[in-house]
Amino acid sequence: MNCDVSIVIPIYNEELNLDELVSRLAETLSSTNYIFEVIVVNDGSSDNSWKKIISLSTKYNFLKGIDLAGNYGQTIALRAGFEASQGEIIIAMDGDLQHNPEDVPRFVELMHQGYDMVGGYKEERPELGFKKWISNTAHFIIQKISGVKMKYFGATFKAYRRYQLDNLNFLGDATRFMGALVLRKGMRFTEIPLKINERKAGTSNYKFSNVIFEVILDLIFLKFFLTYMHKPFRLFGVVGIASFLIGLFLIGGILFGFFFLGLKIKENYLAEFLFSIFLIILGFMFFGFGVIAEVGIYNYFLKKNNTLYNIRSKTNNAGS
Ligand code: UDP
Ligand code: MG
Repeated sequence: MNCDVSIVIPIYNEELNLDELVSRLAETLSSTNYIFEVIVVNDGSSDNSWKKIISLSTKYNFLKGIDLAGNYGQTIALRAGFEASQGEIIIAMDGDLQHNPEDVPRFVELMHQGYDMVGGYKEERPELGFKKWISNTAHFIIQKISGVKMKYFGATFKAYRRYQLDNLNFLGDATRFMGALVLRKGMRFTEIPLKINERKAGTSNYKFSNVIFEVILDLIFLKFFLTYMHKPFRLFGVVGIASFLIGLFLIGGILFGFFFLGLKIKENYLAEFLFSIFLIILGFMFFGFGVIAEVGIYNYFLKKNNTLYNIRSKTNNAGS
């Protein structure tokens, strides 16, 4: 199928939003001349979202439903949608009507102007005090780590080009950093201000207090992912060798003192002696980690067809 624009939407308990979401998308997109598809990925909803998707699929040919076998989380759901998508331009958005379907053409417009990625950011961010401080700090760190100067990483409303997603492996809550993962120096991106609505129906799936901790872990992983994913031995090997050499140096000094200066190890330097042995062993262990990680990564890149999710059923031949 030849397709210009795929819109990918993860759905978790959005039965009350689906009608309006799809009809507004239909209205917006039918006034353009793009060949488009809308892929909604039901992420194991416990309400009637999937039934709703089936019935909407019969009404709208552009709507393609994918029913994941369970709740895999927003990131994996998005990925399932990306992998089934066929458009040259792929737009991700939320299915809870916080993102306005009417904004889609603005994204497409900019992609047609030649940008590699277009991100949305909240025009007004009413968060105050602590929340704002955390968010600003996180942004500063992500910008530093990734070298990508995006105003707002958090928004899931983004447009990508197909080739950017083809080779992208992401797990966990990577949607938060998709911008940082996708963009590399030299890629053209821009951001547009969006009006983000309050949720009218259903409930938000994230709590801020949980999010802080996850973001910190994700940031550490992001650094690792961006820099060492393809060469883990560089990290573990260097740390291992450093630890080994420091230990060797220390123990050399202590033994020198023992043999030539009459130093009493057992009485005065036992802790230092043991510590240097510990450093040497640690060095070997890090070295070993590095080798194992390197082998693991080889296997990882060889076995490309590992899938992360199972699909129970589809509507309108999603993905084919
Ligand atoms: N979502 C999902 N699986 C989940 C949680 C959320 O597919 O396990 C979807 C949800 O239906 C929505 C989008 O991801 O379309 C964003 O979720 P939500 O609105 O709860 O996040 P918030 O806007 O509160 O950050
Ligand atoms: Mg939301």
